[in-house]
Amino acid sequence: MTVISSRFDHLGQDGAEVRLGIMGGTFDPIHIGHLACAEQAREHFGLDAVIFIPTGNPAHKQGKPVTPALQRLDMCRLACLPNPHFDVSPMEIERGGLTYAVDTVRELREHFPENVRLVYITGADSILSIARWKDSGCIAQMVDFVAATRPGYEVTESFKQEIAALGDFRISYFQVTSLAISSSELRQMVGEGYSLRYLTTLSVCEYIFRHRLYRTPETVLKTASPQVVDDPHASAVAPGTAESDGQGALSQAFYDARHEDLKTRVSARRLAHIEGVAETAAHLATVYGVDRDKAHLAGLLHDWDKGYGDEEIRQRALDLGLEGKIPPEVIYDMPQVLHGHTAAAALGRDFPQIPADVLQAIDRHTTAAVDMTPLDMVVYIADALEPGRQFGDIDELRALIGHVSLEELFLRVYEYWTFLLLSRQRPLHPDTIKVWNAYAKRVPKRKDNDLGKRN
Ligand code: ATP
Ligand code: MG
Repeated sequence: MTVISSRFDHLGQDGAEVRLGIMGGTFDPIHIGHLACAEQAREHFGLDAVIFIPTGNPAHKQGKPVTPALQRLDMCRLACLPNPHFDVSPMEIERGGLTYAVDTVRELREHFPENVRLVYITGADSILSIARWKDSGCIAQMVDFVAATRPGYEVTESFKQEIAALGDFRISYFQVTSLAISSSELRQMVGEGYSLRYLTTLSVCEYIFRHRLYRTPETVLKTASPQVVDDPHASAVAPGTAESDGQGALSQAFYDARHEDLKTRVSARRLAHIEGVAETAAHLATVYGVDRDKAHLAGLLHDWDKGYGDEEIRQRALDLGLEGKIPPEVIYDMPQVLHGHTAAAALGRDFPQIPADVLQAIDRHTTAAVDMTPLDMVVYIADALEPGRQFGDIDELRALIGHVSLEELFLRVYEYWTFLLLSRQRPLHPDTIKVWNAYAKRVPKRKDNDLGKRN
């Protein structure tokens, strides 16, 4: 059976009445107008879920250049990931050929049982063109429409009558927060060198920046990378400086040199783990729209000090002046958690070009913190899920990558790890409860949270 939506494919299978929102569009790129429209439609009409369906090759945008479908899909995924009620379907893109909404609606209708009501969400500007589409009468039999107001497109009585004259459409009009923003305008802004910060999600800004989308030969950037400016712990390195051009700590040469250093610092087995963490961190960064090079480097360096014994690492912590910054009971009773802190301090001293946010992710990779940045979470998760780790049900956690938000994944991994420590009667870092409480209340509750399952 084709996968329409990995989150919601099984919707309605228990026979309960379900309302499923469908949000079609080119999403080139997805922006807050789309997201707010979908979320407000969901709340307004009691929808259980909304599936965003980026068009493959839109029949109504023939002749206009459109960003490759897979990149539009990636951006939709990044933007929708944090909302547990949203998902993105590649169904139109995978179908290939010219995209007609009637084919999509038919496929959805065949896939979901009858107790799933399909609700087609559109902006007021689109409803008229949909009504004029090929086989719109067929679509109307299978879905209810909800049409959101959109600045610049008035929903007048004559507009409604014009649509009514085209066919028998069940349309509910609703008022969304007016966001006078369109993908075309955003593309133009990027072309002129402006950032899209606050107009779409940070993860999408980062993606556009990284993939150099919408730039023209004339584009001169007016801002730094959104990742750099939004992260309070990041070093102030703007694109175009030696560092981001690959001359500094994020260059391949620096990475390779530190990789060589590690061969004399840690065992071959440890190095294999480190390489696994670096690759996993890079992968997570791509999935979650975090700076890939920073994640890769932090993954490589996280166990920089793992070659020291208990007494040596304690001494190293004292030599690096960490007494006073780390609680004494941790320095004296928990030497196994010191290596992240000492690595960050020593690397910062010896390689001042390493960005501060990379050092912080290394610092936090064992104990975590209450205010983890996305980069911190990526490195923490990568350490637990790299392919060399083989614990009982760890594959269940790996399977969540890309299907749950980064915070949720972090909490699941944190929970798993804490459980493992408890079951092995290992001491817990004194901040563990603080970290747990900070995230447990932010992440949606799961249904399968029974204690016995783990044993
Ligand atoms: P473009 O400028 O390239 O046409 P767009 O911003 O209109 O892009 P689409 O992908 O064409 O985005 O739109 C997808 C759906 O989202 C359509 O139903 C559209 O009406 C709706 N929509 C887009 N922007 C807004 C907005 N700012 N407010 C409400 N609805 C919107
Ligand atoms: Mg449009």
